[in-house]
Amino acid sequence: MCDSSSSSLAMGERRRAAAHAMLFPFPCPGHINPTLKLAELLHSRGVHVTFVNTEHNHERLRRRREGAVRGREGFRFEVVPDGLRDEERAAPDSTVRLYLSLRSSCGAPLVELARRVAAEEGRGAPPVTCLVLSGLVSFALDVAGELGVPAFVLWGTSACGFACTLRLRQLRQRGYTPLKDASYLTNGYLDTPIDWIAGMPTVRLGDVSSFVRTLDPTSFALRVEEDEANSCARAQGLILNTFDDLESDVLEALKDEFPRVYTIGPLAAAMHGRVVDRANGHGGGAAGLSLWEEDAACMTWLDAQPSGSVLYVSFGSLTVMSPDNIAELAWGLAESRRPFLWVVRPGLVAGGINALPDGFVSETKDRCFIAEWCAQEQVLRHRAVGAFLTHSGWNSSTESICSGVPMICWPGFADQYINSRYVCDEWGIGLRLDEELRREQVAAHVEELMGGGGGRGEEMRRSAAKWKAMAESATANGGSSYVSLDKLVEQLRLETE
Ligand code: UDP
Repeated sequence: MCDSSSSSLAMGERRRAAAHAMLFPFPCPGHINPTLKLAELLHSRGVHVTFVNTEHNHERLRRRREGAVRGREGFRFEVVPDGLRDEERAAPDSTVRLYLSLRSSCGAPLVELARRVAAEEGRGAPPVTCLVLSGLVSFALDVAGELGVPAFVLWGTSACGFACTLRLRQLRQRGYTPLKDASYLTNGYLDTPIDWIAGMPTVRLGDVSSFVRTLDPTSFALRVEEDEANSCARAQGLILNTFDDLESDVLEALKDEFPRVYTIGPLAAAMHGRVVDRANGHGGGAAGLSLWEEDAACMTWLDAQPSGSVLYVSFGSLTVMSPDNIAELAWGLAESRRPFLWVVRPGLVAGGINALPDGFVSETKDRCFIAEWCAQEQVLRHRAVGAFLTHSGWNSSTESICSGVPMICWPGFADQYINSRYVCDEWGIGLRLDEELRREQVAAHVEELMGGGGGRGEEMRRSAAKWKAMAESATANGGSSYVSLDKLVEQLRLETE
């Protein structure tokens, strides 16, 4: 971890000032959401907050809801350009372009912004005393260096996801990846046991990360992931959206490598003593930032369903599905004969809702609600929701844990495989679907998880209730995450002296 003692912001100024965190997440929902929740928690403990969005997202958020990015006393929203041209935003590789563009063009605007805020000290804002970054924006560690302030990284995956991403380098160096040819994707090679990741049980190679599935020796994604994770060692502290009881072994092992690990999760809106506001879907305090319009009618539909009867189906903000998988899923849901709320995000499948198979909507219309986007945390906490069919993104997984809802997992990218491995085998709160969806398996898993009459479904519901209670204890006054957050705030304050 780096030493931040030298500073180009005048030390005298910093000594006088209160802690002021400038938070900059990679500009997508999976990074913005937890970073905003952390920002709210820091603000609630007296830290000044500057939350930085890209101009593009800021405009989207402002258009959606005027007040969303207005800020309040001690909590301001600021913007930096993302450097993308409009036509690049629509490109299939827009996330890669965004990543590269931020790296090449966003450092100087961030430095300028922090200096501008410092120059405004007389108007109520103390100078920026630290940067809090999400994953994928490691270039901003240099921004912190230039400003002479420490940086903290909120790595948005599970601790096990982080440990696996760190070890991508060794997997590459030891020849596990890239794969020799395409047959290795299906010939059982991905079942190779990996038993040397400290703090973790033996896991399948294929579950370590999606990035091992490459045939390309120069795979860009693989290099980016391993570099981004390993660059956390340059930060003053690592912040994880998990709690000690959930991942104790792997956290213990990570502490050998990262002396300052702050486990402050789950950051889900209902944790840390916050009350979920039914009207706008976020905890008390700053407004939630949803880049898409949330369909409020699905909540009314849920109100009319019996308790525990509804399967909620959603694949987060990035997953893209093939028409074949969409069809198998759709007919599996139809065969399950249970009510379901399905988020078919624009971009989930080419053609969106129109890509659903013929006859599916008419066959299921009495027990289905299809939304383009919803207030997921509220949905998961609704008494009608009994299970979650998910892509196992870490935010979705933790939101489900916080709501005591068991999962059916269909991972496909990055840390989703290892999250799903832990959900199913370590925490006992989920069933996993095969990579190629089959309608019979979808229907069978829904029945197993949601059906009555005891058995595994009953057991998983009990375990889910247990983990929910543990998440609540961790974030309650005196719990492990509460104490860890205290330590983080204390560290931020120390850094200003
Ligand atoms: N989400 C939402 N409404 C939806 C679907 C998803 O608000 O209809 C939110 C969800 O609550 C979560 C985030 O989008 O906070 C998705 O993050 P996750 O890490 O699960 O997946 P990613 O989008 O990064 O793949």
